[in-house]
Amino acid sequence: MAEKRKAAAQEAPSIERTLVIVKPDGVERHLVGEVIRRMENTGLKIEAMKMVTASRELMDRHYAGGLEWCKGVGEKTKKNYAQYGLDIVKELGTDDDTKIGKMVKEWLIDYISAGPSVAMILSGNHAVDNVRRVCGPTLPLVAPPGSIRGDFALDSADYANRDKRAVKNIVHASGNLEEAKAEIALWFPEFRQ
Ligand code: ADP
Ligand code: MG
Repeated sequence: MAEKRKAAAQEAPSIERTLVIVKPDGVERHLVGEVIRRMENTGLKIEAMKMVTASRELMDRHYAGGLEWCKGVGEKTKKNYAQYGLDIVKELGTDDDTKIGKMVKEWLIDYISAGPSVAMILSGNHAVDNVRRVCGPTLPLVAPPGSIRGDFALDSADYANRDKRAVKNIVHASGNLEEAKAEIALWFPEFRQ
């Protein structure tokens, strides 16, 4: 079976693996089953799954994208504030993308290491993008109904940041193939990719 899948992956480069995590807010709200159901509905296959409370160290390595990642998160945050006419300098003390991203990273580490998460490896055709499609965009406020974030969350960056915390959006999904490989190795070191 494993050999067969390996051969299929070699034939079709679109066969990928990705990491999905039901974050602590999703576990607390009893949404683990809902997330699994929606993932399985796509036709993707669950290859591994476990419940873990992530250490701060694990999360630091997970969001190891460095300055580039921080900059991207900072940009998204700025857009969210501008959309609602909020003064980001007044709220966060800076409008520097990287500085904002670094702040968010600390809050994210607090958020995900706060309680148990359920991590799973999914595989199949364009697994990375298909999983992102089912999850919806990062900010629940703009995630359409029908997506996990759109159906089960309503948090926003400005609202969360007032309490110096990360946006609660139920799930994590690898952003691209490179992230997926690194995240699977981090969360499932025992899994042979
Ligand atoms: P995604 O999870 O969709 O890949 P990112 O990698 O950009 O999104 O961000 C990681 C996580 O950080 C998000 O899922 C969300 O929980 C949190 N987050 C993103 N932007 C902000 C923000 N501006 N303020 C607080 N938390 C944020
Ligand atoms: Mg991401």
